[in-house]
Parts: sequence; structure tokens; C-alpha cells
Amino acid sequence: MYKLYHVFRHHYSATLQRRMKLPQNRFFFLFLLSALLLPGLSQAAGKNLKVVASIAPLADFAREVGGDKVDVTLLLPPGASPHTYEPTPRTMQEIARARIFLKIGAGLEFWADKLVAAAARSLLTVDCSKGAPLIRSQHSHEGENVDPHYWLDPLTAIGMVRKIEAAFSGLDPADAPYYRKRASAYIAELNALDLQIAETVKTFRVKEYVTFHPAWNYFSRRYGLTVAGVIEEGPGKEPTARHIDRILAELRRLKIGVVFAETQFSPKIAEAIAQEAGGRVLMLDPIGGTKGRETYVKMMRYNLSLMRKAMG
Ligand SMILES: [Zn+2]
Repeated sequence: MYKLYHVFRHHYSATLQRRMKLPQNRFFFLFLLSALLLPGLSQAAGKNLKVVASIAPLADFAREVGGDKVDVTLLLPPGASPHTYEPTPRTMQEIARARIFLKIGAGLEFWADKLVAAAARSLLTVDCSKGAPLIRSQHSHEGENVDPHYWLDPLTAIGMVRKIEAAFSGLDPADAPYYRKRASAYIAELNALDLQIAETVKTFRVKEYVTFHPAWNYFSRRYGLTVAGVIEEGPGKEPTARHIDRILAELRRLKIGVVFAETQFSPKIAEAIAQEAGGRVLMLDPIGGTKGRETYVKMMRYNLSLMRKAMG
């Protein structure tokens, strides 16, 4: 991978050198001048903003705000977990080509730090965790002591959408009204989603649940639910026999007969626990981007329907 990076850098600097000579061309110089005098001209000329997003919800927000003025590339393949992801040469190329990198932050994209450092200085990194109402985490998540799963609260997602709108408008001010209009329309959808979840959760018979990994604290805080137990307390951390006993005791107390696993992880341990408890496993999805859960709103409705099956 290191070698590939050098090949890429070499190619890039050759292109750059060619570009440096171009201002000798009078027409190019005039074009450059007009581009400087008329902000956003290069966008109007059909050059879309190149955006890379780490996980599917961010890519979805970017498409909702950017419409046909941006080209969005998702870095994490659907079904992968950001906690265990290993970047590929393609990840590196996409970051190197991009103008904007959208990330969750709070340590979730630990695998992207080096790639971003190696990318061109013109790359704008938008860390959506800045200013978000973060929850402290007892479990070290990639060395950070905050819980990075804040996108699972739709009202916090609204802040993310606004941040993305500001980034797009900053780099492409000519299209700012377009981004503002699309962001507002999408925020209305997120508000409707929030209302639907709040109304549904209100009817739940049980308000506690057991999850596979600690992804649901923000969702729970927003809607008055409690995470009674987490099977895997840290990424890749196998639960001890004592911890499994505690989970089983919680399941008996709650009498819900459902253990939640997640589509990005193997359901094996959750299945064993469910069998022991005489219950079943349902697969929550905190990332989405797969069939039926292509968008954030669809993914959240999918999770809500499963929670209703377990706790409703
Ligand atoms: Zn997670």
C-alpha cells in the first residue's frame, strides 16, 4: 500500500507541474482570473464538489444536501464496521481525490488519520462531532473517551446536516441557496422521523433492552430508553462468562425474549445468549447503506420496527 501511495504521489506531482506551466497560456490566465473574480464559476462550469464520507449516514446526508452539485463517495463498504475497518488503496485514492472529507470524529475514523495527513492541503475535513452533544464513554473507543455513535439521534443529525450545508456553501458559494433549500427540506424529514420515533417509543411496554455493541446510548437518551446490557463492551472484546451471566440476568428481569445483534458483527455470541435465555436475535443496523436501508431515514425506521417487535 505504501508503494502505491508513492506511485500516486508521483503521478500527482507530474500533473501539478504541467499545471504550473499552464498560466503561460493567455486564455488559461484569463480563465483563472475570471474564476478568481467570480466565485463559484468553476462549480457552475460543471465541476461538482468531490466529497468522501466515512460511513453511509454521512454519505446520505451529503447527497441530500448536495443534490446534483456534488459527487459523493462512501469509504466504508456496506456491511463493514468502522471499529474494525482497514483502509484499502482505493480508500486512499478516494481521499486523495476529494475536496471534502466528512467524518463522524470522536475516534471512529482512526484508520483515516494517516491518509488525511498525506492528502493535499486543499482537502477540507469536516468533523461532525465538533459542537455535538457528546456522551462520555467508560469504554475506550479507539483511545477516545467519548461515544462516537451520536448520528443515531435524529435531532443531533440535524446539526450534522447544517454543518455539511455550511461546508458545501463555503467552497461553492454560488450554489449556497441551492444547498440551503435542500438542507431545509431534509431537516423537515428528520423532524418528522424524530416525531414518529418518539410517538412509537411512547407506546412501548418495556423501555430497556440488551444490545450487541455500545451504539445506542444517544438514541436511548433521546427517546427515554435504557440500555440494560451490552454484550461486547469494546470493539472485538469477547464477553467473559461472568459478563454473559449478567446479561442473562437482565434478560430474565426484562422478560423481552429478544437479544439485539448488529448486521456489521457476527451474531454468534448473541445467538448463544438468546438460546440460553429462550429468546431470539434481531439484527439492529446502526450504519445502513444496504438494501432496504439505503438511506438514514429508512435505516432508522427499520431499527424502530425491530425495537417495537421486542419492546412494543
Ligand atoms: Zn459502533
